[in-house]
Amino acid sequence: MQRKLPPKFIERIQKILPETDWESFFEKCTEPLPRTIRLCKNFDQPENWELRPVAGIPEAKFIERADQREVPLGKTLEYFTGKIYPASLASLLSAKILDAQPGEKVLDVCAAPGSKSTFLAEKIDSGVLVANELSASRSKKLAANIDRLGLKNVVLTQTDGTIMDNFFDQEFDKILLDAPCSSEGFGRRNADFFEKHWAEHQIFECAKLQKKLIASAWQMLRPGGEMVYSTCTSSPEENEAVVKFLLEKFPKSVEILPVKTDAPHATGIENFGGETFAPEIAKNVCRLWPHLGNETWDSEIFFIAKFRKIAGTSRTPAEKKRSKNSTRILSKNQTAEILVRLAKQFEIPREKFKNSVVIERGGEFFLTTRDTAQFCTKNPHRRAGLKLLDAHENPTTEFALRFGAFASKNCVQLLQTDRKKFLEGYDIALPEKFDAKDGTAVLVKSENFCLGWGKIMKNGKQLKNKLDRGIVF
Ligand code: SAM
Repeated sequence: MQRKLPPKFIERIQKILPETDWESFFEKCTEPLPRTIRLCKNFDQPENWELRPVAGIPEAKFIERADQREVPLGKTLEYFTGKIYPASLASLLSAKILDAQPGEKVLDVCAAPGSKSTFLAEKIDSGVLVANELSASRSKKLAANIDRLGLKNVVLTQTDGTIMDNFFDQEFDKILLDAPCSSEGFGRRNADFFEKHWAEHQIFECAKLQKKLIASAWQMLRPGGEMVYSTCTSSPEENEAVVKFLLEKFPKSVEILPVKTDAPHATGIENFGGETFAPEIAKNVCRLWPHLGNETWDSEIFFIAKFRKIAGTSRTPAEKKRSKNSTRILSKNQTAEILVRLAKQFEIPREKFKNSVVIERGGEFFLTTRDTAQFCTKNPHRRAGLKLLDAHENPTTEFALRFGAFASKNCVQLLQTDRKKFLEGYDIALPEKFDAKDGTAVLVKSENFCLGWGKIMKNGKQLKNKLDRGIVF
């Protein structure tokens, strides 16, 4: 059934889309999105899943599962152990368009909950991804998603993106600015969106914030670097007008690039509400519309623009601020000591830790890449890398999720009946005495998955659940 749309929204859309599209757009723009996922690097396809390809994003798939009704996607083991990331196709497309390469230093200015950051981090491999998010609660969600996927090349920061150029000056090879917006794309995810949350004044407020964000982001991009700007909304004030603002503010350094994709899309618009946009803007940007979908593509409203920085930008020399930083890179010997200890403790092949360094911050140890470690010693951040050991030298949930599948010692295999209880955070009575001293840390497995870690208690008869509380079902 078609949902009620605000008259003002209808009026605005009628000025953006040709009349021939109105009926199909209004019908489709509140229709629920199909289930789509990104396959993470370590994905093995379960037998009862049917995956269909998506135009332009080989890592993304439409998904049908035999157990879909009983088990929601977010409650599957594949989700929990970081093998899949449920995400809309449009959301993945903007990260894809950035075309991040192995070894690059990439910034995601508005990163939570992380559908694009996690995708980018997997692409850059030994590079560094700075995932920034202003909201504290959303940062936690972002951190949980990064942990779930066991990413070691991510630096988390929690800064206002509009002033982030105080900390980073022309530093990044690539930048994604997936800006906060009036979010009309949500109409396909949330049945009440248009009736309860859409308001025209939000468009004007978001447009002001987006201009500040894009100016700050541009300063952080190195000459020769590339940036993608995206929103999940249709309003030209938040899209073509923000692109126009960037081109006018930095006329000597911005080159607009075409957004190339096989996903069915439209180009931009050339005028709206008395404002005109140059043909070079309209022809290069990409507008995704729900009614343009087909059997290989189905998305919400979305906008993507791409730029290259063709010359450096100078700015009023506000001192580049560096906060005091207590991150320390461990020496080769210290790193080896920690990794050998963990490898022996759980009998994990040493090569699983190859190309890694360990950093210490606040008494906790994180596995990361050399570039990420060096970046962290120089720049303010909230957290970086994959936490290996906490301040009491215990292993962590993210260590277990990432490396536990390769372990063959100090592992408890759960019965299927206990698995759900464990994932819900409960301690488990072990059916047979586990042969280890009380207090021994063990990795907790079920079938081929490692779900987390725990401690042996009560003379080997109980498993104390040590699953991170932010991640329990
Ligand atoms: N890129 C994310 C993803 O794919 O999962 C979605 C980002 S969402 C469209 C925009 C995010 O920007 C929100 O999480 C919001 O809290 C954050 N945000 C809002 N104002 C911000 C600011 N001034 N600086 C940094 N982040 C901000």
